[in-house]
Amino acid sequence: MQEAWIQLQCPDCGEQWEANPADLHEPDRDFTCKHCDGTRPLSEFAKTTRDFEIIEEFHAS
Ligand SMILES: [Zn+2]
Repeated sequence: MQEAWIQLQCPDCGEQWEANPADLHEPDRDFTCKHCDGTRPLSEFAKTTRDFEIIEEFHAS
């Protein structure tokens, strides 16, 4: 299966980076930005709806 890397963007500092959904937790749990230490639900870091869906799908099984 192809690895789906997703694009994250911090709503606080605007920093963007790619992440492997295997390294992320459920989208409704808090995630701390490594660039500015801002903490928000992971779902707010997903850059696009598709990115959010990939995280959700990864944790659905
Ligand atoms: Zn940030």
